[in-house]
Amino acid sequence: MAAPSPDTPAWDEAAPRQVVDYALRRRARLAEVDSGRIGVGEVCDANPYLLTAASFHGTTSDAACPICRKEALTLVSWVFGDRLGQASGSARSAAEIEQLAHNHAEFSVHVVEVCRTCHWNHLVRSYVSGLKSPPPRTRKMAK
Ligand SMILES: [Zn+2]
Repeated sequence: MAAPSPDTPAWDEAAPRQVVDYALRRRARLAEVDSGRIGVGEVCDANPYLLTAASFHGTTSDAACPICRKEALTLVSWVFGDRLGQASGSARSAAEIEQLAHNHAEFSVHVVEVCRTCHWNHLVRSYVSGLKSPPPRTRKMAK
């Protein structure tokens, strides 16, 4: 039986949930590169769209790139959801996601790390955000 989590206040309906961490998969991927089973070119394949998103919406992480070690990784958050309309499938800043979360029904967020030097990229984590119940129509409370 799922008890309400203490770190997800009941009043914040839009708090991130169903968080999936991809650290293990990432480590496995890097081990494959180390062992030579996967070429660096196969994992350093960030497309131009991701690289552009990294410069406009990315946040710099504390971690250095595991492949080239030349620069800090940039984290880019992508939002996906039927209810987001045109925003679905786009990269968003933390502030924008916060805003979307309080104004839209559930959507998923995929956080991808990318190195702008060697183009290494990997999914870091995913989670669900947005309102559990659809937002009420914008109407003022009658007094
Ligand atoms: Zn790199």
